[in-house]
Formats: sequence, C-alpha cells, structure tokens
Amino acid sequence: MAGNRTFTMVKPDAMAAGNMGNILQKIEQSGFRIAALKVTRLSHAQAGAFYEVHKERPFYGELVKYMSSGVIAAAILEKNNAVEDFRKLIGATDPAKAEAGTIRKLYAKSIQENAVHGSDSDDNAKIEGGFFFSALEQF
Ligand code: ATP
Ligand code: MG
Repeated sequence: MAGNRTFTMVKPDAMAAGNMGNILQKIEQSGFRIAALKVTRLSHAQAGAFYEVHKERPFYGELVKYMSSGVIAAAILEKNNAVEDFRKLIGATDPAKAEAGTIRKLYAKSIQENAVHGSDSDDNAKIEGGFFFSALEQF
C-alpha cells in the first residue's frame, strides 16, 4: 500500500532566490499537509551523509558542496500516495525536461540547482524525515 508521507527540501538555490514561500504555497495548494518544517543549513559532512546513496555517482562531490552552500528548508509532507504524487508535482530532475507547471519547471535553475528534493520511496521518506526531525517534531 502506498504511504501517506514524503520528505522534501527547498534547496539552496531556491532559498537564495526567495522562493521558499512560493514553493511551500504550491505544495499546500496541491493537497499536501506540512507535518514538520525547519530552516537549517547542512555541514559538508551532513550533506555527504544525506546523499550517501549517490556516493558512486560522478556528480556526488559537486552535489554535496552545493547542498551545504546555503540554508535549506526541510519538511515532512502528508497526503495519500505522497511519494509518487510529490514526485509528479516537482517534475523531472532536469528542469529543461520538467513538465509545465511543476515546481522544477517554475523555479529550478539547472539539473543540479533544481529547487527541491523529493523522496523516491516510502522507505527513504522515513529515513530522510528522521535525518532532520525527531519523533516529537513530526505532527
Ligand atoms: P532529488 O533526490 O533531489 O529529489 P532526483 O531524485 O530527481 O532529485 P537524483 O538522481 O536522486 O534526482 O539526484 C539527486 C540530485 O543530484 C538531483 O536532484 C540534482 O540536484 C543532482 N543531480 C542529479 N543528476 C545530476 C547531474 N547529471 N549533474 C549534476 N547534478 C545532478
Ligand atoms: Mg533522488
């Protein structure tokens, strides 16, 4: 059965551009309830740990540098079929390939600086949410 929670980050490029509010508004208007939310900044080591699964990929070093380059907003989102529906809402990794109206089409700058993160499975949503929020911080 599809789970009802996913995890997202508004990435440093979108935070620096002042688009956190626009992005959170679009998320809420698309039927997601924000169950946890914080603005924070990852150290290089924390970003490396978060993206551990991508360690072998050629862009890993650049990705870790970028994700620790500025503040981010981390959030847990609730909705039926949350993981899949949120991936649809954010659009393709490369904004040039993202569908019109998706968050990445609207706000991403490049395949790396692509405005938002969205978990790719129920298991990862749980792990990633737990990386940022204790049980007491999830409502
Ligand atoms: P996310 O996990 O952030 O939601 P995604 O699942 O669409 O994105 P992944 O393949 O998991 O994409 O890649 C993680 C992140 O690494 C991307 O969102 C992007 O910031 C960066 N990235 C992915 N592919 C490339 C690439 N070819 N060049 C540079 N950066 C990349
Ligand atoms: Mg991913």
